[in-house]
Amino acid sequence: MLIVMKPDASASEIERVVEVIETLGFRAHAMPGENRTAIGVTGNRGSVDPAHFENLPGVADAIRVTKPYKLISKELRPEKSIIKVGSATIGGPELAIIAGPCAVETVDQVFAAAEAVAKSGAKFFRGGAFKPRTSPYAFQGKGEDGLKILADVRDQFGLNIVTEAMDERGIDLVEKYGDCIQIGARNMQNFSLLKYAGKTRKPILLKRGLSATLDEFMLAAEYIMAEGNYDVILCERGIRTFADHARNTMDLSVVPALHRYTHLPVIVDPSHGTGHNYMVTPLARAGVAVGADGLIIEVHPCPEEALCDGAQALTISQYFDLVTQVEQIRSALKVSQYAPVSV
Ligand code: PEP
Ligand code: MN
Repeated sequence: MLIVMKPDASASEIERVVEVIETLGFRAHAMPGENRTAIGVTGNRGSVDPAHFENLPGVADAIRVTKPYKLISKELRPEKSIIKVGSATIGGPELAIIAGPCAVETVDQVFAAAEAVAKSGAKFFRGGAFKPRTSPYAFQGKGEDGLKILADVRDQFGLNIVTEAMDERGIDLVEKYGDCIQIGARNMQNFSLLKYAGKTRKPILLKRGLSATLDEFMLAAEYIMAEGNYDVILCERGIRTFADHARNTMDLSVVPALHRYTHLPVIVDPSHGTGHNYMVTPLARAGVAVGADGLIIEVHPCPEEALCDGAQALTISQYFDLVTQVEQIRSALKVSQYAPVSV
C-alpha cells in the first residue's frame, strides 16, 4: 500500500496518516518528494484496505502495490533521489566519482592516491579495510587501523570515505570512521547484514551480486530501506557469465533498467566489472554514456605492487585521463538530455 498525499498536505495531516498506519500494526515510510509526500506501508502480510486512508484529510490516493518492492519504486518517489554522502551528494547533476585503491595498504600508498583523487575534483575516496578475498591466505585488509587511515584522509583532503563492511561489527566501525558503508557483491543477499545496514544512519553503497537478477538486486535494496535507511546507492560491478576475456561481464543494460523502476542513484564499477587495466577507461566512458550517476574506480600509485586487484588498478596518470574523458561525456549528455529542443 502506498498513500499519496495532496501537494498541499500539511505536516500534521502526514503525521495523522502515519499514526493510522502504526495503529494498524504496520510501518510507515514517509518519503517527501518535489511535489508531494508519499507514505509507503510495510509489515502487512495481506493487502491493506484503502478505506482506512481514503477519507483522511490531505490524502490524494491510496494505491495497492502489486510489485514485490515498494520503497525503492518510482511510484513512491517519481523523482530521482539525491543521496547525501558526507559533505557531497550522489544522484544529482554532478557525476559522482569515487576513487582510490582496492585496499588500504600503507599510509604512503593511501595518501598518494588520495592526493590524486582530491586533485581530480572527485569528492569521494574508496579503499577497503576489510577485504572479501577468495583465498583465506590472501591479504585480508588492515581492519580498524585501515579505517583510521581513511579518517585521516577525510581530515586532510576533505574527501568523503566509502569503504566496505563485511559483517555487523564492520558496519559499526565503518559508521564510526567512514561516510558511506559499502556492501560488497558477495554480501548482496546476506539478508541479516542488509537489515543491520538498514538500521544505521549512514548511506549504503550496495553492489550487485555476482549473479543477481534485476529483481534480486532491487529487493536487496528494499531490505535496507524497509528498516528505515533510505539512503541507498546501487552499483553495477559486473556479473559472472561464460565470457572469460574479462573478470566479469559489465551489464550496462541494468543501468537504464534500474532507472526505469527505482528512484535510487546508480553507479558503475568498471574496475571489478572488467578486471583489466586496459578495459577500465573504455567501460567507464560507456557507463557514463548509458546514464550512470557515478563511477567507482580503483587507482593505485604503483599498481604492480598492489596487495589486491593490481591488474585492474589505474595508474595516477591514467586515472586523470579517465576523469577528463568521462566529464566530457557527462557534459555532452547534459546538453542533449536537458537543453530544450527547439522545433
Ligand atoms: C571492492 O570494491 O573492493 C570489492 C571487493 O567489490 P565487489 O564486492 O564488487 O567485488
Ligand atoms: Mn578491488
